[in-house]
Amino acid sequence: MTEEELLERVDRIRRELAEASDGRYPAPKLIAVTKTHPPEMILPLKAAGITDIGENRVQELREKLPQLAGSFRIHLIGRLQRNKVRQIVQDVCMIQSVDSLPLAEEIHSRAAAAGIRMPVLAEVSPAGEAQKGGIPIRETEQFLRQIAPLEGIQVQGLMAVMPLTEDTDLLDRLFSGMRELFEHIRETDIPGIRMEELSMGMSGDYRIAARHGATMVRVGSAIFGPRG
Ligand SMILES: *Cc1c(COP(=O)(O)O)cnc(C)c1O
Repeated sequence: MTEEELLERVDRIRRELAEASDGRYPAPKLIAVTKTHPPEMILPLKAAGITDIGENRVQELREKLPQLAGSFRIHLIGRLQRNKVRQIVQDVCMIQSVDSLPLAEEIHSRAAAAGIRMPVLAEVSPAGEAQKGGIPIRETEQFLRQIAPLEGIQVQGLMAVMPLTEDTDLLDRLFSGMRELFEHIRETDIPGIRMEELSMGMSGDYRIAARHGATMVRVGSAIFGPRG
């Protein structure tokens, strides 16, 4: 793909996000998901105004970091093993996939040791797909109360991965349920918790996510093409 095509795709996605949010909500921030793609394909995104990228594997992130650091803010969006936290805690701007107390505690202690407070999102499982990770919707508030006192992390919102489906009615319900949960928790005002970011929507469903008030969408293949 040429650099020009890449930039055209980013522009088109931005236009679609603005249209879909339709003045009801601000258009969500576009996070380019760069997993599996080499730095030379990622760096041109800067010219398209992309400031934030998402990676899902620690090993791959570490390999690409020397070429990417300084050019983008990096979000960790995939499942994170506790024993890998130390390797990335100084290099990412946010960990979006926090779904257990032990993981939250590990990030807290590694961040505190590094003298920082790590922004995190609590990952919720909107369809209750336990094998994919994420906290069930009905346990989210309790989970947030548990991790709120950890001063090495700063909870800034919620993240969700939707089931792979073409059933747009189901997706409508799940995205709207996430927005409701987000607003409910924001109104609940849990001490130490900020509810500012709602990260949901990927290549197949970012328009629906924008319509339901996502503040960030994580888009990979719609920018780079299908992964091989
Ligand atoms: C890969 C990935 C994405 C992006 O997926 P696409 O369908 O390529 O847009 C978003 N979120 C997470 C957690 C991912 O692992």
